[in-house]
Amino acid sequence: MRLLVPSLGRRKMSARVRLDVATAGLSVVWLALAAVPMRAQTCANSDLVVRNAKIVVMDDSGRIAEAIAVRATRISAVGTNQEIAACISPSTRVIDAQGRTILPGLIDVHTHGLEWAKGVVRNQIDAAYPAMKSISEVVAEVSKRAKSQKPGEWIVGAGWDDGKYSDRRYILKSDIDPVSGDHPVYLSHVSGHLAIANSAALKLAAVTRDTPNPSGGIIEHDAQGEPTGILKDNAMELVSHLLPADPPDLPARAAKYLSEQALSFGLTTIHDISLLPDDIRGYQQAANAGWLKLRVQMVPLVRNIADAQTLAASGWFTGFGNDRLKIGGAKMFADGGMAARTIAIYPPPAAGESDNFGLLIWTPEDMQKAHRILAAAGWQLITHAIGDRAMDEVLDSYAAASKALNLTDPRFRIDHGGISTPAIQKRLKEQHVIVDGNPPFVYWIGGWFRKYGPERVRWSYPGKSYITNGVIAAAGSDVPVTPLTPWWGVWAAVVRRELTTGEILAPEERLTIREALTLYTRNGAYAGFEEKSKGSLEPGKLADFIVVDRDVLAVPSDELKDVQVLMTFVGGELCYQKR
Ligand SMILES: [Zn+2]
Repeated sequence: MRLLVPSLGRRKMSARVRLDVATAGLSVVWLALAAVPMRAQTCANSDLVVRNAKIVVMDDSGRIAEAIAVRATRISAVGTNQEIAACISPSTRVIDAQGRTILPGLIDVHTHGLEWAKGVVRNQIDAAYPAMKSISEVVAEVSKRAKSQKPGEWIVGAGWDDGKYSDRRYILKSDIDPVSGDHPVYLSHVSGHLAIANSAALKLAAVTRDTPNPSGGIIEHDAQGEPTGILKDNAMELVSHLLPADPPDLPARAAKYLSEQALSFGLTTIHDISLLPDDIRGYQQAANAGWLKLRVQMVPLVRNIADAQTLAASGWFTGFGNDRLKIGGAKMFADGGMAARTIAIYPPPAAGESDNFGLLIWTPEDMQKAHRILAAAGWQLITHAIGDRAMDEVLDSYAAASKALNLTDPRFRIDHGGISTPAIQKRLKEQHVIVDGNPPFVYWIGGWFRKYGPERVRWSYPGKSYITNGVIAAAGSDVPVTPLTPWWGVWAAVVRRELTTGEILAPEERLTIREALTLYTRNGAYAGFEEKSKGSLEPGKLADFIVVDRDVLAVPSDELKDVQVLMTFVGGELCYQKR
């Protein structure tokens, strides 16, 4: 009996099985006869049936099915073509998948999706690799816009990346000034920790050679003491606050664009991390307008104890909302980033930085206070930690909150978990803390891992050891840090090739294709408290599934990044179809 049925049907079936045992010898025949009326009862009048498929169910058994039936928004049955034939009535829409592979809709638990989409909707320059590969390409685009835009209008862009550009250096105002005329120009770096402003922008901001560094920021100067245009961390604000304000409907339009793009890649759920109030408003407006087909968990940013108190006092907490749009966890930062050399590590330091052990953003006391305030109010905790020292601080704080509040299943999460040593993994398992890992980082920014030494490369963004050590890991693109498509991540988790050298980083951490898919399905569902409704194609769950153009379980590993999604169903509705 390969047909999966909802719980009512399953209870009936087991009663019949017990009956058959008493009439030994006839049971096989009896079950075969009994199966037809049972199916008719549980999946009759399904609205949609997709058959002739290779359905990767992603349940515990690892089975493959041929057909899936949907009633309203949920899966009513999964089984063989023959079994699911009983679910078809004259009003059922039947789709022949022609042997294509079907997977559960994919889940990305760490995106800055709306932030990325706002940049596209604003039509700002997309300088991210591989859209652009050198400073001269950026300069050419600025020049083009300077000629076509109104005099004095801002030229804005994001995503430039000295780590991948052929020049291997920062863009400077001296690169931009010759082509930008009277247009102020502001281009932020892919890391989000620095930006380049041209002379016109610095002039508007009244930044001169005498302007002191703001607290927590650096204005870079050349050998003659002139600002180079590079502004780091809090110094970015000197110029960025002058950028033109977005029209009020921009976040909602960005949410629509994000939804369309995500569905085209096979994502049916994302968690959008570090949201501000305008973004949350935009998501609600998009949902009200019917533009949001993608399911979204909104994760607000907590920068200090006052923010934690505000969220706790709001009365909202994790899980509020509906299947389309809901409140997710609360996000904090424990340390910085690898590109900025601010991750908090234990000795030894990174090459050439003898006294740099990174940055802990919170004191342990304040972090514990904020975590406890939020957890007591019902918030799932999601904390960014890349260095091992930062992860220990977060794990200490999570342990304190769980103990003080006597929490049984809080599913606290660590974002990134960049340097996840065996000692850290032991703690993750013992405390049942989930890692929101980033498989695509191995490819896109794996070059940064090496700066921290070979021993750390071994434990940077691991895969297999999480499984062997019993740690639950989900996956995120961190878009715009890496592209929104999850297929680069699935591929990188299996192959672990680094972009700049082609080297395989920590080959012992490579996953099988099925294991990589688990990060993006079941484990993503679990991280969002949604394992009862998502993550596998079992009856009773939401009918979120995708049809892809090749047999992902059998293709050569290198093809995984090229997988094309042909159809995306969300709650049984066909929301994307490749033309
Ligand atoms: Zn992020």
